[in-house]
Amino acid sequence: MAEALTALAPYAANEGNSQGRRHKEAPPTHRGEYERDRDRVIHSTAFRRLVYKTQVFVNHEGDLYRTRLTHSLEVAQIARTIAGALGINEPLVEAISLAHDLGHTPFGHAGQDALNTCMRDFGGFEHNLQSLRVVDELEERYPEFLGLNLTFETREGILKHCSSKNARQLGDVGKRFLDRTQAGLEAQLVNLADAIAYNNHDVDDGFRSGLISIEQLREQTLFADHCDDVQNRYLDLDDRRVIYEVIRRMIGYLVDDLVTTSAAEIHTHMPDTIDAVRSAPRAMIHFSDAVLEQHSSFKKFLRDNLYRHDQVRAMNENTQDIVAALFARYMSDPIALPESFAVRASSGGEEVQARVVADYIAGMTDRFAIAEHERLTA
Ligand code: MG
Repeated sequence: MAEALTALAPYAANEGNSQGRRHKEAPPTHRGEYERDRDRVIHSTAFRRLVYKTQVFVNHEGDLYRTRLTHSLEVAQIARTIAGALGINEPLVEAISLAHDLGHTPFGHAGQDALNTCMRDFGGFEHNLQSLRVVDELEERYPEFLGLNLTFETREGILKHCSSKNARQLGDVGKRFLDRTQAGLEAQLVNLADAIAYNNHDVDDGFRSGLISIEQLREQTLFADHCDDVQNRYLDLDDRRVIYEVIRRMIGYLVDDLVTTSAAEIHTHMPDTIDAVRSAPRAMIHFSDAVLEQHSSFKKFLRDNLYRHDQVRAMNENTQDIVAALFARYMSDPIALPESFAVRASSGGEEVQARVVADYIAGMTDRFAIAEHERLTA
């Protein structure tokens, strides 16, 4: 029974057709190649830092808000359920999910925007590309290579989007952005599981913070429909539990739609291998048009009402100043960097120095960035 449920479909990624690791290694014992990838991610330094990095709310604002770590776990949970339903590779989906936000700066998107502005003249900064940089180069744990030496399929999944300019520098994993081909189904799936996770948990965090109300949320049909059902069925349920129950139902609804729509799409094309998936004219993992519209509208609602809320904005301005000040300081005074970074920073021109400074700042947790800023400006 369990075996039938976990059997891999022919269009799934599997070790037999993997494009392998950049540095050859002996096969793992007691676990598969994608499990090994997942385990390496879990053991990485960058992964442990995710617990102290902002999703929307700065880490020290409250202990109940999502952090990058709990967000990544929720993505993995949602993605694994869908992977099981579609017969695609669960360990791979888990590895990609747990790694997908490793490159995030402190202070969420505000931190990334600030660092990108600082890096304007030096090739820019993009958190998604940085996640790949973390697993390919920045983690220093293994004697025989830099980075985690993950399989091509995990790296393919981490790199969700990429400019042509960057794609040209990335070799094999950047190729699909130049050829305009697709990623494997596991990669496609994690991208959408990410969106399902944050749309829903940000409702919870937004409501808990008091920045959005049930009345406001009711403007969204996706929320209103489920909320009506819940409130009609459970009279006098307190708001907190209404929100939890609505979120639970919304996640289920989105997952159901994604599974049904994607299964139909896969059935239509019947790709016989992962390469047939990659060369298909479009992605096969997607929502139905009607649900995509609801989902996108919800995303926009959260952007307008939560991410751009005055209170969130004020906090963001504050944290963006911290990032900009740290960047300026390390550029003018590289000696303020830890020794290993200082050595690398002085190994080339200004562009090399800027990239090293960006790597260092991106690796910081929220509270470390705040403390470091205080130390350097005291
Ligand atoms: Mg994410």
